[in-house]
Amino acid sequence: MIKTFLDKNNIDAHFDESMKKHTTFKVGGNAMCIAMPDSIEKTAKLIEFLKNNNIESYYLGNGSNVIFNDNGFSGVIVKSLNLNNINIDGTIVKVGAGMLMTSLSKAVREKGLSGLEFCYGIPGNVGGGIFMNAGAYGGEISNKLLSVEYIDENGVLKTINKAECEFSYRHSIFMKNKWFIVSATFDLEEKDSAEMFAFMEDIMQRRKDKQPLDKPSAGSSFKRPVGYFAAALIDECGLKGLTVGGAQVSEKHAGFIVNIGGATCADIVALADKVRQIVLEQRGVVLEKEMIIV
Ligand SMILES: Cc1cc2nc3c(=O)[nH]c(=O)nc-3n(C[C@H](O)[C@H](O)[C@H](O)COP(=O)(O)OP(=O)(O)OC[C@H]3O[C@@H](n4cnc5c(N)ncnc54)[C@H](O)[C@@H]3O)c2cc1C
Repeated sequence: MIKTFLDKNNIDAHFDESMKKHTTFKVGGNAMCIAMPDSIEKTAKLIEFLKNNNIESYYLGNGSNVIFNDNGFSGVIVKSLNLNNINIDGTIVKVGAGMLMTSLSKAVREKGLSGLEFCYGIPGNVGGGIFMNAGAYGGEISNKLLSVEYIDENGVLKTINKAECEFSYRHSIFMKNKWFIVSATFDLEEKDSAEMFAFMEDIMQRRKDKQPLDKPSAGSSFKRPVGYFAAALIDECGLKGLTVGGAQVSEKHAGFIVNIGGATCADIVALADKVRQIVLEQRGVVLEKEMIIV
């Protein structure tokens, strides 16, 4: 039934697809189907179809903050990859959810537009960035945002203003609603492109120096607890190198759990739980996972 619908509507899709291919942690079982519509209309139609036919679904960006269960996913993953158009009008930039944050930061820098430089090096796309309110080096994606277009649970296209998005540290309204983000509109500031380039190169170098970018991961495994840094707490507890199966607390950056080869979702969850427990016992601080387990 779903195959006929996807074929009829000319929606790119793969069946029995390994989620290892779609996540930066490179773990997880197979999804029954992953669909990648290339227009808002097709996305809306698909979401309406899934709802009307009671088919389970999950919305995916670039898979840099999610880990899929080893048993896989029995429904349809809707991935924003092909919604990646960009329109720049003066300082106003409207961009599809599927554009990578790094590509967006480069595209606007080339136009002398500032406000998204910090996105350079974050491996997610715009939809995933808005959902997570991604941030780094003093910036957050919500800072220069005007509004977000999304498809609601009934397949209806809607727009929400930034003030209504309930943004806070790694949090947005999208976390409590089954809404598919299709685009975001930003109002940026004019700035010298060379100055931005230097800053972006500098933060990329800092990432390369500090982060284990040579190993699959989902970035920081835990959110920053108020008044502390998760990586420092984990390091102080002597947990660098702690390993469960193929999952390891990075030797380079204690805030990252990395896949050192053949890690399963169960390995990662068990290691994260172990880290949380030890940090709670030794330092009395509760760590909350940043990565999302599906
Ligand atoms: C090496 C590395 C470095 C990182 N550095 C940073 C950093 O500096 N700062 C930071 O904030 N994060 C960082 N991250 C984590 C990650 O890149 C961010 O959380 C990013 O915002 C996730 O985007 P994504 O497109 O990959 O989303 P995904 O991982 O695909 O999804 C994340 C969540 O968003 C939801 N979602 C995704 N797209 C949509 C959509 N279109 N509509 C509705 N819901 C959607 C998903 O359902 C999921 O719940 C890093 C990760 C790695 C691997």
